[in-house]
Amino acid sequence: QVVTRFAPSPTGFLHIGGARTALFNWLYAKRHGGRFLLRIEDTDRERSTQGAIDAILDGMRWLGLDWDGDVTYQFSRAPRHREIAEQLLAMGKAYRCYASAQELEEMRETARREGRPPRYDGRWRDRSPEEAPAGVAPVIRLKTPQEGETVIEDAVQGRVTFPNKDIDDFVLLRSDGAPTYMLAVVVDDHDMGVTQIIRGDDHLTNAARQKHIYEALGWTAPALAHIPLIHGPDGAKLSKRHGALGVDAYRGMGYLPAALRNYLLRLGWSQGDREFFSTAEMIEAFDLESIHRSPARFDFVKLENMNGHYLRDADDAELLATLLASLPYLEGGQAIADKLDERRKTQLAAAMSGLKARAKTLNELVDGAGFLFAERPLPLEPKAAALLSPQAREGLAALTPRLAALEEWGAATTEAVVRETAASLGVKLGDLAQPLRAALTGRATSPGIFDVLAILGREESLARLADQAH
Ligand code: GLU
Repeated sequence: QVVTRFAPSPTGFLHIGGARTALFNWLYAKRHGGRFLLRIEDTDRERSTQGAIDAILDGMRWLGLDWDGDVTYQFSRAPRHREIAEQLLAMGKAYRCYASAQELEEMRETARREGRPPRYDGRWRDRSPEEAPAGVAPVIRLKTPQEGETVIEDAVQGRVTFPNKDIDDFVLLRSDGAPTYMLAVVVDDHDMGVTQIIRGDDHLTNAARQKHIYEALGWTAPALAHIPLIHGPDGAKLSKRHGALGVDAYRGMGYLPAALRNYLLRLGWSQGDREFFSTAEMIEAFDLESIHRSPARFDFVKLENMNGHYLRDADDAELLATLLASLPYLEGGQAIADKLDERRKTQLAAAMSGLKARAKTLNELVDGAGFLFAERPLPLEPKAAALLSPQAREGLAALTPRLAALEEWGAATTEAVVRETAASLGVKLGDLAQPLRAALTGRATSPGIFDVLAILGREESLARLADQAH
């Protein structure tokens, strides 16, 4: 059975790159009827926080990336990691190293002088434990091969070769008994039965080291897929301005989880030039072969367009439910939530199809819905104020009693009256409809003006018109 995992370190937000890694692992597991596990790598006690853990779990839930079974917390498994380090020691595959901080610093210094990466020189590899200096707590290091090369077969990167002279005898267990990331990852992946690792290619050199731990223990290593990192639109490392934000920020910007999933899928994975994949379609189509080898470029414009597509495609009632659930996270959403009574909920539902056609994000939707929640007299945007010239106000003054005389108030009946009035005044429909929009919404753009009339209702529409009649 296929088992994948997402293994974030809870030292910050669930950032967009992490979310994509999680999505790929989730998809791969679903594609193969396997399991997707979540492991919180909280071994770094100083940098791990509960806030970050909550943000990760929240972000995963919001994105709809449900994991199987309980969350594994790596720190709680430290005794097991120590046990394996001791086992490697007993097998003669690892050794205690008593090198002092100063000796290690000297090795680093030499490496700096010679312009090569620092490397532990193996000075305790073959020394007898009897030579151990008194009072020094040792670390445990893995004996890695000193000659030849380490070959990694990777589904994305292909065959990658590392000369063994570049891989030093790295630390498995620190002098205070704390396992290193390198050891913990291998032991946990093995114990959790992980069969396929999908993670960022910043971990590729770690894979070479981890391979030696698997080999020393005689364990089968999971298959590997190291995916290129996400870059900014300019090709440079992703910066905050270019989208290196937490998933919660995307929620706050008003993106729909389904749209973000689709966007993240296409960020470094493609089949032909097909853009849109529903979740079921993604699960059906996802494969490791179609992951790109070069870094993907994050593009807000594309994400926004994709989100706009998902908004337009959404069922009105479902979208309303999503919007209402999202209000606390959206810009200006809380203000709307506070004013949301039954009447406004009904109005919002009626306005949904007109609003979603004009919005790319839920924030724009909230903004577009603002006219439903505005208090009289409406504040006018500059563009709306400009539409309400003295002449335009005269037109509205002529229109108002005709609207008031309507027996049946609706989009069709109000439209007929507005058209007739424009004709009788000898003006174009727009010359009457645009000021009408300004008076009713305070904006120069809104859903269709006759829908606005219908949604606001007779009383509110006439009152807003009266406010502008002078
Ligand atoms: N905890 C590591 C990270 O957040 C990932 C480890 C792994 O996927 O092997 O970068």
